[in-house]
Amino acid sequence: MDITLAPEVLKGADISRIPVYEPFLAGNVPHYVNECLSTGWISSRGGFISRFETAFAEFVGADDAVSVANGTVAIHLALVALGIGPGDEIVVPSFTYIASVNTILQTGATPVFVDSLESTLQIDPSAIRKAITQRTKAVMAVHLYGHPCEMDSIVALCQEFGILLIEDCAEAFGSRWSGQHVGTFGDAATFSFFGNKTITTGEGGMVLARDPEILERCRRLKNQGVSTSREYWHDMLAYNYRMTNIEAAIGVAQMEIASSILEMKRRLAEAYRSDLSGLPLRTHDPIGDVVHSHWMCSVIVDDPKDRDPLRVHLSERGIETRPFFRQAHRMPHCSAQGDFPVGESLSARGINLPSYPGLTSGQVGRICADVRSFLGNLRSFVTTRPGLGLLEPAVDYLEVHPES
Ligand SMILES: *Cc1c(COP(=O)(O)O)cnc(C)c1O
Repeated sequence: MDITLAPEVLKGADISRIPVYEPFLAGNVPHYVNECLSTGWISSRGGFISRFETAFAEFVGADDAVSVANGTVAIHLALVALGIGPGDEIVVPSFTYIASVNTILQTGATPVFVDSLESTLQIDPSAIRKAITQRTKAVMAVHLYGHPCEMDSIVALCQEFGILLIEDCAEAFGSRWSGQHVGTFGDAATFSFFGNKTITTGEGGMVLARDPEILERCRRLKNQGVSTSREYWHDMLAYNYRMTNIEAAIGVAQMEIASSILEMKRRLAEAYRSDLSGLPLRTHDPIGDVVHSHWMCSVIVDDPKDRDPLRVHLSERGIETRPFFRQAHRMPHCSAQGDFPVGESLSARGINLPSYPGLTSGQVGRICADVRSFLGNLRSFVTTRPGLGLLEPAVDYLEVHPES
């Protein structure tokens, strides 16, 4: 396949490398971080911690939130606070990021893997039902790549069997099911603020819990289990999972522009959706009454044989991509019996394209043109989008965030 780009497409095209993700650090980040430096509140005490927790809880519609050092310890803390441990079985999709599963193993509990749905990529509620046993203590719903899980069925199932629900929302800040933000359906929920997540604090995480006592337990467990009434008295096995004030300062600045970031990502996903139509692949579109926050703008190729060559083709043109996660039950330390054909097929066909809010429409156009050129369909791209303004921002930041 030897397709040369039309000169009008190449002219003015940004030929630098396009990464999969870049944090969007507009607004008050330097201002707030400098405040930490100049006042000396650089560790895990300081005013930004509670400001970030309050702003975050308000955004997602929770009463309270507990900040932690990252999204992985957030899950571990939630599991421990809910009393999950050896002998318990936790139902979890095999098609997820490894942290969802490692944290279950770290408590001594057993992950029970289930398959996912082809349509949304999320955990299959009918597979959860089949996996429930006498030992099932909880279901872990992971809202993968920003699309919510089927929360009506999962909540009903957990109520029917009297089991706990934990939501791993690391990839789903801004995602909603029937208008309600994910993370507010379960007994506990966790978020990640790693550098490539929708909002970031560098490293960082957050825990939510329905029961204020569980959340209070998280507060103590993340801080060496120190007594609130007696100095240096520690009456439980606990951890140092604290977030720093500097991280929280970045978090406060990120919360101030969170709606803009989400809007930019929504428009980015829409641009991919329209520019990549009519090809032997599909984009990861929202299904049902949901808000998909598009942490990653994914494509799922029809033929798994296309996946890796397409990634190579894009890489040779300076476009970085990521394959979908490999199934967790394949990893040597958590290998488990079972066959999860949907997750297996998705794992083999998925590609995450550059997904950061600051991508320009010129860059999106270039990426889509390169996907099309691989799939032998460049002409229709050039003729259907003649006026694509290369190098113009996909979204004008000031247009969606006029205050800054
Ligand atoms: C990123 C992520 C985590 C872990 O978050 P860290 O902040 O990187 O520790 C957990 N679960 C999922 C699904 C994730 O994508």
